[in-house]
Amino acid sequence: MFRKIEHLGIAVENIEESLKIYENLLGAECYKIEIVESEFVKTAFIQIGESKIELLEPTDGESQISKFLKKKGQGFHHVAFDVENIDDEIKRLIAKGFVLINQTSKDGADNKRIAFLHPKSTNGLLVELCQEK
Ligand code: ZN
Repeated sequence: MFRKIEHLGIAVENIEESLKIYENLLGAECYKIEIVESEFVKTAFIQIGESKIELLEPTDGESQISKFLKKKGQGFHHVAFDVENIDDEIKRLIAKGFVLINQTSKDGADNKRIAFLHPKSTNGLLVELCQEK
């Protein structure tokens, strides 16, 4: 079951510089900066009510975020939904014909199990599923 929008992911060139902007905009402070080695990405989270903003900076020129920045520039990257049981959701979505980038859940930032859907099956929107560990 999908429960809420957990966070919006925003691709940035530089986390520290972008945090100044987003902290000023939202009137809230970043509570965590975390490097996800497997994704070659540095993340920063700001909480706003029940939702979060996740800033993503590439740590490697070949990472997905790096390719995204080269193609589209800084800005909105993905929407993440909080789900009750990520492995059940992956099975349900595959059965419905959605294309998953991750066929099984994996460890992500901020103490989550995550999986991404391919944007080609969601009319161009990159969707992340996440479940608190
Ligand atoms: Zn995310």
